[in-house]
Amino acid sequence: MIICKTTQEIRDLEANLTFGKKLIGFVPTMGALHKGHISLLKESKKSCDITICSVFVNPNQFNDKGDLARYPRTPEADIKMLEEAGCDIVFMPSIEEIYPKTDTRVFDFGAIDKVLDGAYRPGHFNGVAQVVSRLFDIIKPHKAFFGLKDYQQVLIIKKMVEQLQLKVEIVACPILREADGLAMSSRNTLLDAEERKAASLIPKLMQEAKTLSTTMSLPDVKNKLLAEISANPLLKADYIEFCNADTLQPITEIKPGKKVICLAAIYSGKIRLIDNLFIN
Ligand code: AMP
Repeated sequence: MIICKTTQEIRDLEANLTFGKKLIGFVPTMGALHKGHISLLKESKKSCDITICSVFVNPNQFNDKGDLARYPRTPEADIKMLEEAGCDIVFMPSIEEIYPKTDTRVFDFGAIDKVLDGAYRPGHFNGVAQVVSRLFDIIKPHKAFFGLKDYQQVLIIKKMVEQLQLKVEIVACPILREADGLAMSSRNTLLDAEERKAASLIPKLMQEAKTLSTTMSLPDVKNKLLAEISANPLLKADYIEFCNADTLQPITEIKPGKKVICLAAIYSGKIRLIDNLFIN
């Protein structure tokens, strides 16, 4: 596996490995890698000639500076994991390499950026779009792999690709979960034993949402789930919402032919976790 830290090193490789003739798959990450990340890498390896993974904690997408400071960083373990999984190139740039000058671009993603994490984390998706567009520009991938755990992010990236008329295929990959159902996340390592136990309620709430939605109205299901969250002293909900899976606009009833997804952002202690589940 080749480790690159600069755009120039990627350019040199591009020339030496005759990238032009090969199908490049790209997996952007913020590191502290787990099996969820590796599943994206494996998906890329299945259909691409060269798989490049980036590890970069993007300051521009953190609206909460405490969250940025706390974010786990494990570069040595990441390199080992990527090497074992058969990654061809890992790109680990510095902040200066990605942002030689302040990125002042403002994207307009319309309604999908005004709800859920877009509403609760102002500027977050603008920062995501800044870093992903910059990384696409450096890596020039044919395909880029993203996890459905960050469902709203997948829709935002697809919209960005459309708006910037980029020639990259966005491949959305399923959520990998721990044995008790908790969606794998770098942030899970920050949970203490009690918080981890409380967090295991999150996937159960998502399943409950799916089951109850067949017999109860969506607003009633939502209230019941919010009450269950409030009953646990370690948990606090930013939101739990039923949405049209294409537009992400909140809905109160399931209409025939429309895909519905339940999305949640819930704190366990200080750690904010997100999850989602298609309910029909
Ligand atoms: P992150 O390092 O958290 O920015 O995540 C990098 C990529 O891995 C994103 O596309 C995430 O959606 C994806 N990802 C994170 N956790 C999981 C998971 N549990 N299952 C599948 N993909 C994931």
